[in-house]
Amino acid sequence: MADYREMWKSLGMDLETHDVLCDVLPVAFTDVYLSQENRPENMGYYDFVVSEIHGVRPAELIEAQKNGKKVFGTFCIFVPDEIIFGADAIATGLCGGSQFWVPGGEKVLPTNTCPLIKASVGARLDRTCPFFRIADMYIGETTCDGKKKAWEILGEDVPMHVMDLPQMKRRKDYKAWAEEIMTLKATVEEFTGNKVDSESLKSSIKLINDKRRALARLSEFRKNKNIPISGKDCLLISQIAFYDDPTRFAQMTNALCDELDQRVKDNVSVFPAGTKRILIAGTPLAIPNWKLHNIVETSGGAVVCEEMCTGTRYFENLVDESKETLEEQVDALAERYMGINCACFTPNNARIDDIIRLCKEYDVDGVIDVNLKFCNLYDTEGFIVERALKDAGIPVLGIETDYTDSDVQQLRTRIGAFIEMLGE
Ligand code: SF4
Ligand code: SF4
Repeated sequence: MADYREMWKSLGMDLETHDVLCDVLPVAFTDVYLSQENRPENMGYYDFVVSEIHGVRPAELIEAQKNGKKVFGTFCIFVPDEIIFGADAIATGLCGGSQFWVPGGEKVLPTNTCPLIKASVGARLDRTCPFFRIADMYIGETTCDGKKKAWEILGEDVPMHVMDLPQMKRRKDYKAWAEEIMTLKATVEEFTGNKVDSESLKSSIKLINDKRRALARLSEFRKNKNIPISGKDCLLISQIAFYDDPTRFAQMTNALCDELDQRVKDNVSVFPAGTKRILIAGTPLAIPNWKLHNIVETSGGAVVCEEMCTGTRYFENLVDESKETLEEQVDALAERYMGINCACFTPNNARIDDIIRLCKEYDVDGVIDVNLKFCNLYDTEGFIVERALKDAGIPVLGIETDYTDSDVQQLRTRIGAFIEMLGE
């Protein structure tokens, strides 16, 4: 990585502790990613983004701030980036996917909080992630209890706006979410000094839809019998989508898809014939959480789909681009975002339908239902998910894990046995 120490220093980061992270990440990335054979050439872009993860994009964000732009940090796919970009500001995902940040979160949160929340809080309070330092304002949401309380703690350190997400999907809930989007709009307008009007919103809706279209196009390749790209690579691309510049991201992902078009014509597969096709459902896998994909894809499986927020929930369904007035556009945003099937909703039958549908579309041999330790919502919903899959005759393995490596061997044994069983 180029030398960004001066930049990190100016962000008030704890350089000594941050050096430890900078030492371990490239090793993990080389082991998991660069060891793969026959990767598409266009993965070079994403490899570069990761190799400079705390350098290039943070430097771009700081440059944008110098030019008067505000940066908003978000933690959940319910927060509509369209409003932020519509105010000529920048949205960046702030999800923490590393064990490195967890102890920092545990200083202020109960140990039995999910690692995603602990890592996000730790990354801010320990001053070891530039993105968490750069964001001028954080946008939280009331999806789960752990997050709600975490926002109160983070809100003591950084300006925080919290969106109140309804927990049911009745018509009045859609209306309430549209009102929340309007409130976000007012907050963003006041903070940036820029108005969001129907014209700017129209172009930001297209901007974010283009990103979704690129991800959906990429996902289509994974339906092929010959799979031209690994699940690990697709997960990485999904994770980068949360913080990269959306225009560039869509361009680079489409360039990769052009290469994959050729691979399909040439019948190229990155997996041997007969590799078992796995769908992973459940809690999100934030960067750099590659543990599960790595285990599956080094145990005779190929991950062909992620029914998660770092997967289909992020890119499926577009916002209607045909609306002209601001009110209609906000309603269209509410309609699209309320269509996300997160376990924080009750009932959440549409998620079960999604999983069964995706299993068919991606010709899946088996499902791994993953739960991040201490996520009560997805853990509880796991019962319904796994029962529905069994009823549909689709083999399923439920697992719970965290960000540590302490369960890798045990997971390897269980996942290996599950994949082997799929061959019988
Ligand atoms: S799992 Fe639910 S709360 Fe978590 S990022 Fe996804 S939509 Fe948001
Ligand atoms: S994984 Fe579960 S507990 Fe963790 S932030 Fe998401 S919904 Fe909340």
